[in-house]
Amino acid sequence: MLVQQILKAKGDDGVVTVQPGIEISEVAKILAERRIGGVVVSADGKAPDGIISERDIVRALAVKGAVCMSDKVEDLMTRNPVCCTKDNTADEVLTRMTDGRFRHMPVVADGALVGIVTIGDVVKARLQELSMERNALEGMIMGH
Ligand code: AMP
Repeated sequence: MLVQQILKAKGDDGVVTVQPGIEISEVAKILAERRIGGVVVSADGKAPDGIISERDIVRALAVKGAVCMSDKVEDLMTRNPVCCTKDNTADEVLTRMTDGRFRHMPVVADGALVGIVTIGDVVKARLQELSMERNALEGMIMGH
């Protein structure tokens, strides 16, 4: 299973990005409204300069309190996020996410953002694949 197939199954909603200069309170609103846990930060809407997730906001809240809501995204984001391409496999992405302890991965082509996959998307795709393999094997054993 390739990242390309995972993106196709998700549908083409476009990728949400935020500017590095907006306030954390704005990002919190976007995450809540869109029911997502993280968003790619990009100054030009193409190159992924960073990524900011709910974890970064919770960490800042614990350290500085509610004043962090007026910090800029670029102060809290993780720079140079680990990205994948459409040709990576689901297993490669899962391994990178598990090793790096993060749940979001921007997908790039020629340095430009073309999508984002979450650990939930990848696990869902792998479960569907396993279920199809299981049905095919059962069919072979039962002689269908
Ligand atoms: P997450 O599990 O995705 O909510 O993120 C956990 C931490 O990893 C946060 O500090 C994120 O900014 C960071 N992070 C998320 N995705 C990536 C990525 N693809 N590459 C590097 N760091 C990331």
